Amino acid sequence: MAYLGTPGNTVEILKKYNFNVQKKYGQNFLVDTHILDKILDASAITGQDCVLEIGPGIGTMTQYLAESAREVIAVEIDRALIPVLEETLSSYDNVTVINEDILKVDIRRIAEERNGGKPIKVVANLPYYITTPIIMGLFESGIPLDSITIMVQKEVAERMKAGPGTKDYGALSLAVRYYAEPEIIMQVPPACFIPRPGVGSAVVRLRRYEVPPVSAKDERYMFALIRASFNQRRKTLVNGLANAAGLPVTKEMAADALKQMGLSPTVRGEDLTLAQFARLSDFLAE
Ligand code: SAM
Repeated sequence: MAYLGTPGNTVEILKKYNFNVQKKYGQNFLVDTHILDKILDASAITGQDCVLEIGPGIGTMTQYLAESAREVIAVEIDRALIPVLEETLSSYDNVTVINEDILKVDIRRIAEERNGGKPIKVVANLPYYITTPIIMGLFESGIPLDSITIMVQKEVAERMKAGPGTKDYGALSLAVRYYAEPEIIMQVPPACFIPRPGVGSAVVRLRRYEVPPVSAKDERYMFALIRASFNQRRKTLVNGLANAAGLPVTKEMAADALKQMGLSPTVRGEDLTLAQFARLSDFLAE
């Protein structure tokens, strides 16, 4: 089977299977071997690795992964792609395709069964409509992870890297920084895909920290505070937290915690660093 990462080979296989691209599944197939090489380089896969690929599509990147990794688990939601993958991956005996929704699959169990609970590497050209739930799901479910190397929408890559006081800074920036060190590897223009997406893309690598850079007594509570702070971005932190549904924080409690931290009573969530959110959460949890 020829490599798929060229426009000619991709169009040929799509035609052969009479495949209709599904917008609802965020299907944009990568057709640039240079970008594929870069993604593989960034992911630093070795022959020891068990790799999870999210959304293999027609198998373009899966072929590359199968040649570098010990084992590849590829989770694809679209049933119509399964016969295509059977053909394009037929010469690899180290790939397992699972026809499932990545948000429903028990990745923890897969990592346990296939990799003895050791950290896996995730590599994906993500479906953009569910980027955040996929990333948060990977982090929060406690799956043993080494790194995540992913193609995402350019704006999302910028949000992951953003720091306090910028317009892109938000709950995703803080979550990424708590769990991993983010790095933008490269920008990828729409012309590198078939069909072309309406937005620019970027490859991002998230290297999982062994220990988070800050410690909060109750991690879940800290993230509940972070989400509440950015849900009402334009409000002061005191008002945002006091108005948040399901968060037992009054204006007085929030104002008192800010005072103890030496912060202004009119500060907004977007001004706080991750370390400050961790401290705030410890004050309020008491
Ligand atoms: N990896 C291929 C490539 O690089 O050419 C395809 C990438 S395409 C941007 C995203 C892929 O994710 C599609 O194949 C799509 O069907 C699949 N997908 C979308 N939603 C999914 C979900 N919830 N679970 C698993 N796969 C999904």
